[in-house]
Amino acid sequence: MLIRDGIPTPEDLATVMPSEERLAKGPIAITECFQNIACNPCVAACPQHAISMEPDINATPKVDPDACIGCRVCVARCPGLAIFVVDMTHSEDTALVTLPFEFLPVPEKGQLVCGLNREGAEQGWYPVVRAVSGGKKNMTWMLTLEVPKDKAMEVRNIKVGGYRDGR
Ligand code: SF4
Ligand code: SF4
Repeated sequence: MLIRDGIPTPEDLATVMPSEERLAKGPIAITECFQNIACNPCVAACPQHAISMEPDINATPKVDPDACIGCRVCVARCPGLAIFVVDMTHSEDTALVTLPFEFLPVPEKGQLVCGLNREGAEQGWYPVVRAVSGGKKNMTWMLTLEVPKDKAMEVRNIKVGGYRDGR
Protein backbone atom coordinates (compact mmCIF):
# COMPACT_ATOMS: atom_id res chain seq x y z
CA MET A 1 0.00 0.00 0.00
CA LEU A 2 1.33 3.42 -0.97
CA ILE A 3 1.01 5.07 2.44
CA ARG A 4 2.92 2.23 4.16
CA ASP A 5 5.61 1.18 1.69
CA GLY A 6 5.50 3.68 -1.17
CA ILE A 7 4.31 1.04 -3.64
CA PRO A 8 1.17 1.98 -5.57
CA THR A 9 -1.61 -0.57 -5.79
CA PRO A 10 -3.10 -1.74 -9.11
CA GLU A 11 -6.07 0.49 -8.24
CA ASP A 12 -3.75 3.50 -7.83
CA LEU A 13 -2.08 2.76 -11.16
CA ALA A 14 -5.38 2.36 -12.96
CA THR A 15 -6.13 6.02 -12.25
CA VAL A 16 -3.12 7.23 -14.28
CA MET A 17 -2.68 4.59 -16.99
CA PRO A 18 -3.31 5.87 -20.52
CA SER A 19 -5.80 3.95 -22.63
CA GLU A 20 -4.57 1.23 -24.99
CA GLU A 21 -5.79 3.42 -27.83
CA ARG A 22 -3.62 6.34 -26.70
CA LEU A 23 -0.60 4.14 -26.06
CA ALA A 24 -0.86 2.88 -29.64
CA LYS A 25 -0.45 6.45 -30.91
CA GLY A 26 2.98 7.20 -29.45
CA PRO A 27 4.90 8.18 -26.30
CA ILE A 28 3.05 9.60 -23.34
CA ALA A 29 3.88 10.72 -19.82
CA ILE A 30 2.53 8.74 -16.88
CA THR A 31 2.45 10.58 -13.55
CA GLU A 32 2.70 7.97 -10.81
CA CYS A 33 2.01 10.61 -8.19
CA PHE A 34 -0.85 9.66 -5.91
CA GLN A 35 -0.72 11.79 -2.80
CA ASN A 36 -2.19 15.22 -2.25
CA ILE A 37 0.93 17.32 -1.73
CA ALA A 38 1.64 20.96 -2.50
CA CYS A 39 3.83 20.42 -5.57
CA ASN A 40 3.53 21.43 -9.21
CA PRO A 41 6.84 21.67 -11.12
CA CYS A 42 5.40 19.19 -13.60
CA VAL A 43 2.61 21.58 -14.50
CA ALA A 44 5.01 24.47 -15.02
CA ALA A 45 7.54 22.35 -16.96
CA CYS A 46 5.28 21.04 -19.68
CA PRO A 47 5.63 23.07 -22.89
CA GLN A 48 2.38 21.58 -24.18
CA HIS A 49 0.41 22.52 -21.05
CA ALA A 50 -0.57 18.86 -20.90
CA ILE A 51 -0.40 18.50 -17.10
CA SER A 52 -3.01 20.08 -14.88
CA MET A 53 -4.18 20.05 -11.28
CA GLU A 54 -7.70 20.76 -10.17
CA PRO A 55 -8.80 22.48 -8.04
CA ASP A 56 -5.38 23.59 -6.74
CA ILE A 57 -1.70 22.77 -6.17
CA ASN A 58 -2.61 20.12 -3.58
CA ALA A 59 -4.36 17.96 -6.14
CA THR A 60 -2.66 15.11 -7.98
CA PRO A 61 -1.53 15.84 -11.55
CA LYS A 62 -3.52 14.76 -14.58
CA VAL A 63 -2.04 14.28 -18.05
CA ASP A 64 -4.14 15.27 -21.05
CA PRO A 65 -3.58 12.33 -23.41
CA ASP A 66 -4.38 14.46 -26.44
CA ALA A 67 -1.98 17.25 -25.52
CA CYS A 68 1.03 15.20 -24.34
CA ILE A 69 3.58 14.51 -27.07
CA GLY A 70 5.91 12.42 -24.91
CA CYS A 71 8.75 14.95 -25.06
CA ARG A 72 10.11 13.80 -21.62
CA VAL A 73 10.76 17.34 -20.31
CA CYS A 74 8.67 16.70 -17.21
CA VAL A 75 10.60 13.56 -16.23
CA ALA A 76 13.64 15.41 -14.89
CA ARG A 77 11.60 18.25 -13.38
CA CYS A 78 9.63 16.12 -10.96
CA PRO A 79 11.28 16.19 -7.51
CA GLY A 80 9.37 13.05 -6.58
CA LEU A 81 10.87 11.03 -9.48
CA ALA A 82 7.28 10.07 -10.19
CA ILE A 83 6.98 10.71 -13.94
CA PHE A 84 7.75 8.16 -16.64
CA VAL A 85 7.33 8.29 -20.40
CA VAL A 86 6.31 5.09 -22.15
CA ASP A 87 6.45 4.58 -25.91
CA MET A 88 4.67 1.39 -26.95
CA THR A 89 5.17 2.19 -30.63
CA HIS A 90 8.96 1.77 -30.66
CA SER A 91 8.94 -1.63 -32.41
CA GLU A 92 6.80 -4.68 -32.81
CA ASP A 93 8.24 -6.39 -29.72
CA THR A 94 9.78 -3.65 -27.63
CA ALA A 95 8.80 -0.41 -25.93
CA LEU A 96 10.81 2.51 -24.61
CA VAL A 97 10.58 3.49 -20.96
CA THR A 98 12.10 6.80 -19.86
CA LEU A 99 12.72 7.09 -16.15
CA PRO A 100 14.44 9.58 -13.81
CA PHE A 101 17.80 8.63 -12.28
CA GLU A 102 19.77 10.36 -9.52
CA PHE A 103 22.54 7.93 -8.58
CA LEU A 104 26.16 7.60 -9.66
CA PRO A 105 27.56 6.31 -11.86
CA VAL A 106 25.11 7.31 -14.56
CA PRO A 107 24.87 4.50 -17.11
CA GLU A 108 25.95 5.28 -20.65
CA LYS A 109 24.10 4.81 -23.90
CA GLY A 110 24.41 1.19 -24.98
CA GLN A 111 25.05 -0.13 -21.47
CA LEU A 112 22.93 -2.99 -20.17
CA VAL A 113 21.22 -2.27 -16.86
CA CYS A 114 18.98 -4.35 -14.65
CA GLY A 115 15.40 -3.14 -14.76
CA LEU A 116 13.48 -3.15 -11.47
CA ASN A 117 9.77 -3.03 -10.89
CA ARG A 118 8.02 -0.79 -8.35
CA GLU A 119 8.79 -3.29 -5.58
CA GLY A 120 12.48 -3.37 -6.53
CA ALA A 121 12.33 -6.87 -8.05
CA GLU A 122 14.61 -7.58 -10.99
CA GLN A 123 12.82 -7.79 -14.34
CA GLY A 124 15.72 -8.42 -16.74
CA TRP A 125 18.69 -6.68 -18.35
CA TYR A 126 17.91 -3.99 -20.87
CA PRO A 127 19.95 -1.56 -22.99
CA VAL A 128 20.06 2.16 -22.30
CA VAL A 129 19.19 3.75 -25.64
CA ARG A 130 19.32 7.33 -24.40
CA ALA A 131 20.90 9.05 -21.39
CA VAL A 132 20.11 12.75 -21.10
CA SER A 133 21.17 15.09 -18.32
CA GLY A 134 18.53 17.30 -16.76
CA GLY A 135 20.95 20.22 -17.16
CA LYS A 136 23.52 22.06 -15.05
CA LYS A 137 20.98 23.12 -12.44
CA ASN A 138 19.18 19.81 -12.37
CA MET A 139 21.13 16.70 -11.42
CA THR A 140 18.34 14.35 -12.45
CA TRP A 141 19.12 12.27 -15.52
CA MET A 142 16.59 10.82 -17.91
CA LEU A 143 17.38 7.27 -18.96
CA THR A 144 15.49 5.57 -21.75
CA LEU A 145 15.51 1.77 -21.73
CA GLU A 146 14.35 -0.56 -24.48
CA VAL A 147 12.28 -3.27 -22.82
CA PRO A 148 9.96 -6.05 -23.99
CA LYS A 149 6.45 -4.69 -24.36
CA ASP A 150 5.15 -6.80 -21.49
CA LYS A 151 7.64 -5.06 -19.18
CA ALA A 152 6.82 -1.50 -20.21
CA MET A 153 4.39 -1.00 -17.35
CA GLU A 154 6.59 -2.87 -14.88
CA VAL A 155 10.10 -1.39 -15.20
CA ARG A 156 10.29 1.82 -13.16
CA ASN A 157 13.87 1.85 -11.83
CA ILE A 158 17.24 0.32 -12.53
CA LYS A 159 20.13 -1.34 -10.77
CA VAL A 160 23.50 -0.65 -12.33
CA GLY A 161 25.24 -3.33 -10.26
CA GLY A 162 28.35 -3.59 -8.10
CA TYR A 163 29.02 -2.56 -4.53
CA ARG A 164 30.68 0.49 -3.09
CA ASP A 165 33.65 -1.54 -1.80
CA GLY A 166 34.25 -2.98 -5.26
CA ARG A 167 32.97 -6.51 -4.62
S1 SF4 B 1 6.11 14.32 -21.81
FE1 SF4 B 1 6.29 16.46 -22.55
S2 SF4 B 1 4.28 16.94 -23.38
FE2 SF4 B 1 4.02 15.11 -22.11
S3 SF4 B 1 3.43 15.88 -20.10
FE3 SF4 B 1 5.66 15.66 -20.06
S4 SF4 B 1 6.45 17.67 -20.65
FE4 SF4 B 1 4.29 17.62 -21.25
S1 SF4 C 1 6.21 17.43 -9.90
FE1 SF4 C 1 6.16 15.20 -9.53
S2 SF4 C 1 5.77 14.98 -7.31
FE2 SF4 C 1 5.22 17.09 -7.90
S3 SF4 C 1 3.01 16.98 -8.36
FE3 SF4 C 1 4.13 16.72 -10.32
S4 SF4 C 1 4.29 14.47 -10.54
FE4 SF4 C 1 3.79 14.88 -8.37
